[in-house]
Amino acid sequence: MWQDILKQQRGPSPPRLTVEDATELYENADFNLLRSAALERRRIVNPGNEVTYMIDRNVNYTNVCTINCQFCSFYRPPGHRETYTQTYEQISSRFSELEDVEGVRVLMQGGVNPDLPLSWYTDLIRYLREHHPSIALDCFSPIEIEGIADVCGLSTLEVLTELKHAGMHGLPGGGAEMLVDDVRLDISPKKGSAENWLRVMHEAQSLGLTTSATNVFGFGESRLHRVQHMERIRKLQDQALEKGWAGFTSFIAWPVQLESNVFGRRNRGQNKLLLGAGPTEYLRQVAISRLFFDNIRHIQGSWPTMGLDIAQMALFGGADDIGSTMMEENVVSASGTDKTCALEVELQEAVRRAGFEPMRRDSDYNLLETPNVTPNVSEFPAPPPLQT
Ligand code: SF4
Repeated sequence: MWQDILKQQRGPSPPRLTVEDATELYENADFNLLRSAALERRRIVNPGNEVTYMIDRNVNYTNVCTINCQFCSFYRPPGHRETYTQTYEQISSRFSELEDVEGVRVLMQGGVNPDLPLSWYTDLIRYLREHHPSIALDCFSPIEIEGIADVCGLSTLEVLTELKHAGMHGLPGGGAEMLVDDVRLDISPKKGSAENWLRVMHEAQSLGLTTSATNVFGFGESRLHRVQHMERIRKLQDQALEKGWAGFTSFIAWPVQLESNVFGRRNRGQNKLLLGAGPTEYLRQVAISRLFFDNIRHIQGSWPTMGLDIAQMALFGGADDIGSTMMEENVVSASGTDKTCALEVELQEAVRRAGFEPMRRDSDYNLLETPNVTPNVSEFPAPPPLQT
């Protein structure tokens, strides 16, 4: 019964949650009690009143992709008239914009572009390190690493090693979606099995690259599937920690966005009520992830998909981080969300209004000096004129 499981989970040394017990809590636990247990755990794991955030930006360097995930509206197949690949100079100019606002990290992801050799990536990393030495480069999700390996005929470990030598700092956690093959092979058949994502992450961790874990959910899968996804990540994290590696810094989940999934083949259509997730479901997911991951310290609230108000609520149900400013986002937003950038002041205000203290961090969750940014109304878009 969920009451007994939740009772065991309260206090400083609870037993590790099994997949079955976590699923029972996910499905049946009282919403408020579940979230209160997750908040209690967050306060034990991350004592103090700080909620962290990062000043960073996304760069989506190419939209050419051969993988054709069914939920994706961002990619274009090779030869399509809307394809693009940014030049080094274009990418660099985005870094300069980030430097202007004291940003510390760029998350660079794109499609699996068969026309770009390994040297394009290593030269890019070297170029960016030379021109923007203070920005950490978290680049290329596991499926992109696999794509590069295919193009150049090296193993993924060899590709990661070359990228690290060029100056890459870490890997984005993207592309995990659901690490349960029944679901994964249905929504992204060309992405290959969950094992591939896990293997590339394990290799990256072995090289000391910074990694995070993600979960896109709401494809019509069961809650058991979602917990099984977490279980695969928890096991990999156990292996990393046993070897003395840093492992995943954090876990971030968000529901799939399909509102304008016109290019991707999976859209809401008749399944409107079954796909994605509303606020209650999302907040249950955050709470379960906090209780389930006894070996990952940071749980992030997702404002780009859920909005700042729900991200704020996630802080009261297990999350200790509110993400980053992003400045630009083209992948998720292509399928629905329209807020793709947050001002630092917005993140700080959301955190403060929830009763926490906002704190800047870097990609490795080191705390940084944090100015108290005061709202400046001129930075916000003007409201529409009143209709009379
Ligand atoms: S989600 Fe990534 S891998 Fe899948 S089609 Fe879109 S760009 Fe390609």
